[in-house]
Amino acid sequence: MARGKLIVLSGPGGVGKSTISQELRKHDDFTLSVSYTTRKPRIGEIDGVHYHFVTDEEFTELVHNNEMLEHAEFAGNKYGTPRKEVESARNAGRNVLLEIEISGARQIREHDSSALLVFLMPPSWEVLKARIEGRGTDTPERIAARLALAEEEMAAAKEFDEILINHEVGEVVQGLIALAAR
Ligand code: 5GP
Repeated sequence: MARGKLIVLSGPGGVGKSTISQELRKHDDFTLSVSYTTRKPRIGEIDGVHYHFVTDEEFTELVHNNEMLEHAEFAGNKYGTPRKEVESARNAGRNVLLEIEISGARQIREHDSSALLVFLMPPSWEVLKARIEGRGTDTPERIAARLALAEEEMAAAKEFDEILINHEVGEVVQGLIALAAR
């Protein structure tokens, strides 16, 4: 049996990566990797489905035991991809999709040249800016920091194999399915 592909979906914060991965749960073309995080669950998030929620100590232990394929810190919390889950799904012929931030995508690139790196691009900078500013809960300082980070993250697009523009969720999902089938 052919080994499944590793597809990495990344892009700037606020571009809509998690909406895409939620939609992908309904499709059978991918196994979605469930990351470890030290972040507290948000309302509606289920342990083992959206994330494996762990303590700082547990996370450190997992890294120490080389159980993470990649890991990164984002907005004060730690995130990482479980090596074993990804490997066994791929060995069973399943395509695996990671929805991760950019430094994690870079780590995957370094260690697995066969991985397909997909950058999710907003339709325009104005659209991304409006989305980041639209999160009503953030302070002006926090919004400014998120905008600065997003600008930096946008510059990483050229490091990726493919770029998909997030005009519409269904279109991006179809784009990913087509890339996996190639
Ligand atoms: P959130 O806390 O909003 O769910 O995720 C914050 C950021 O962490 C998002 O950009 C998301 O793509 C990223 N992320 C989620 N899981 C992982 C992971 O396992 N590794 C890395 N590097 N980033 C992740």
